Amino acid sequence: MIGLAIASELSAAYPELSMVLLEKNDNYGQETSSRSSEVIHAGIYYPETSLKGRLCRQGNRMLYEYCELNQINYRRCGKVIIAVDENEIHQLERVFVQGQTNGVVLEWLTPTQVQKRVPGVKAAAGVWSPDTGIIDSHGLMYAYCRRAREQGVSLLLKAPVVSIRKLEQDYLVKLPGESIKSRIVINAAGLYSDQVAAMPALDVDECGYRLYYCRGEYYRLRPRRYFEHLVYPLPEQAGLGIHLTFDLNGGQRLGPDFCYVDRIDYQMDDKAQEEFYQSARRYLPWLEIDDLTPDYCGIRPKLQAPGEAFRDFIIKEESDRGYGGFINLIGMESPGLTSSLAVGRYVTELVKQSFIRENQVDG
Ligand SMILES: Cc1cc2nc3c(=O)[nH]c(=O)nc-3n(C[C@H](O)[C@H](O)[C@H](O)COP(=O)(O)OP(=O)(O)OC[C@H]3O[C@@H](n4cnc5c(N)ncnc54)[C@H](O)[C@@H]3O)c2cc1C
Repeated sequence: MIGLAIASELSAAYPELSMVLLEKNDNYGQETSSRSSEVIHAGIYYPETSLKGRLCRQGNRMLYEYCELNQINYRRCGKVIIAVDENEIHQLERVFVQGQTNGVVLEWLTPTQVQKRVPGVKAAAGVWSPDTGIIDSHGLMYAYCRRAREQGVSLLLKAPVVSIRKLEQDYLVKLPGESIKSRIVINAAGLYSDQVAAMPALDVDECGYRLYYCRGEYYRLRPRRYFEHLVYPLPEQAGLGIHLTFDLNGGQRLGPDFCYVDRIDYQMDDKAQEEFYQSARRYLPWLEIDDLTPDYCGIRPKLQAPGEAFRDFIIKEESDRGYGGFINLIGMESPGLTSSLAVGRYVTELVKQSFIRENQVDG
């Protein structure tokens, strides 16, 4: 998603440059980008001036416009964040204040108002976010890819980058059987981005780029009730809480949970069914355990170690470390989908600055 968005934005700004997008798998969008909640976030939870906060809010606006222009399926369905009982109201108030500080449109809901918006949900209070939505993430990636290719970007599939070496002015990017020389290298390798950052000899630990894998599972929900809006409990340490979402076809699901893991494995089993049931039954009291069946999982590329506080996206051009023209994107977890177009613009600006710096050095 992020690599495609950058290719699409960058090739629009620099049609004269020759660009190639390298993907190790036999197609794009087979890792984190096809394993998300497909939610267009409004930007409620993140610190106001953080990259996550700024790019999410900007990306939200850009994405709705882009969907209209490019006939990508989406629904601005809105979401309700709930305090399940009185004990949670204080934390919900903090979410409300943070969202308002961020300039996000929000409305406080009484229990009766929550019932009206999302019948069947137990809550002591709620917050309504009208600018949250859902999107066809595959349609979005397809649109980015089509635009990038129309603007001259080549997409190389089954092209795993195995090493990157800094030459005098360029980088030598090695794939099995061939090499590519490039002035600019953009690392948007998702879960592997710390490994790719290390390739030209950056010390990942010193830079604070080491990633932790945080798995999130989803369970399909038997659609016994119709929901017009998404329902979120309060956020947790490493995720937004096991929430109720639906896709554009009406399929309902619960998730994702969070669990730090040490390897990338997308296999699903039903071990978490009880945990999901207990967690969601707090606010969906009519839920039965048989309503849940294992669906899919995604893995978050987290900079935040277990128990650590908030960590922002890292999007950085590495001139100050002696790697001019090398741009790293690390920790691109949620709200990466929502932010994707804004990230594309941001990286385009970094490339522009890099060219300006290079011209100044060249005299
Ligand atoms: C459970 C979950 C739920 C989420 N829900 C939401 C949501 O509702 N809304 C939202 O805004 N965001 C959400 N996100 C975040 C969002 O999905 C990600 O931010 C986004 O998809 C990241 O895209 P990416 O392109 O960086 O990563 P990826 O999709 O992983 O793409 C990276 C690509 O790089 C390729 N690659 C890696 N190494 C190499 C190499 N050496 N050579 C060549 N290619 C390589 C990979 O094969 C992959 O295709 C969620 C994430 C998770 C895990």
